[in-house]
Amino acid sequence: MFCGQCGSRLLLCHARSGRGRIYPYFACSARHAGRGDCTPAGDADRAGGAAC
Ligand SMILES: [Zn+2]
Repeated sequence: MFCGQCGSRLLLCHARSGRGRIYPYFACSARHAGRGDCTPAGDADRAGGAAC
């Protein structure tokens, strides 16, 4: 999968919700590296930018 905004690959990350539930989401690799401000569709950022 690739970011629809910058074309970088998407990383599969796992975030932990406030209740301890772990769920997967996709994050733009460019954004993950601090080189972008993309917000690809999906569950990304529901946890407030949890680390990969
Ligand atoms: Zn991107």
